[in-house]
Amino acid sequence: MSTVKEPWELGVMRSSGRRLAEVVAALKEAVVPGVTTAELDALAEARIRALGGVPSFKGYRVGRNVFPASICASVNNEVVHGIPGGRELHAGDVVSIDVGLIYGGYHSDCAFTVVLDGSSSEVARLLDVTRKSLYEGIAQALPGNRIGDIGHAVQSFVEPHRFGIIREYVGHGIGRLLHETPSVPNYGKPRRGLLIKAGMCLAVEPMITMGSYKTKVLADGWTVVTADGSLAAHFEHTIAVTPKGPEILTVLEGQDALN
Ligand code: MG
Repeated sequence: MSTVKEPWELGVMRSSGRRLAEVVAALKEAVVPGVTTAELDALAEARIRALGGVPSFKGYRVGRNVFPASICASVNNEVVHGIPGGRELHAGDVVSIDVGLIYGGYHSDCAFTVVLDGSSSEVARLLDVTRKSLYEGIAQALPGNRIGDIGHAVQSFVEPHRFGIIREYVGHGIGRLLHETPSVPNYGKPRRGLLIKAGMCLAVEPMITMGSYKTKVLADGWTVVTADGSLAAHFEHTIAVTPKGPEILTVLEGQDALN
């Protein structure tokens, strides 16, 4: 699969990303104490379909495992791929929501983490560092750079804070498929890896923990948790590499991507 998209494909990717940003904005408003993750999932699916999209994750298959929902909702020590259900969210919960849609045949993928009525400054710092590390990584998505430059930027931003950087799950190319080449790790060496070219579309997604980077998968076959039980955060945008630099696709028109 070619990793470089035609200009018309980038146009469709942009339309896809803007729609996903609308879904993300609705989810950010809806994630409050008392709501269940199944309710958030239903809201996301309804919004995706109302915007002419199809959920990327629902029916996504890895081997014999089929993901049953339109969002991943990962709470506290859950890192990614949590399955929405009857769990009610409470004040103090750290909630990561990952959502993807297909529009016009092209996927976009976006994630954010919030703490509900949070008072812990350490949790606030985890979220702040993870979110900022995403933008550090994205800033390196320049033509002529290499994939290792993205991971190196994330790693060198996060490590001084003594947080753990998940190794087993990484960002990815994105387009007609949810997961395309190349893999985009959140660690790496500068000037290593695949050459970045204009026209590439990437999902950059640091997953950071308050403890170790080690993970395990629960018996449901999907939910990834920290091996040491520490809290985790996850932020993600879908971007296009342009000759002028990275363009974040999963933003509302006119929105400052940093908010
Ligand atoms: Mg992703």
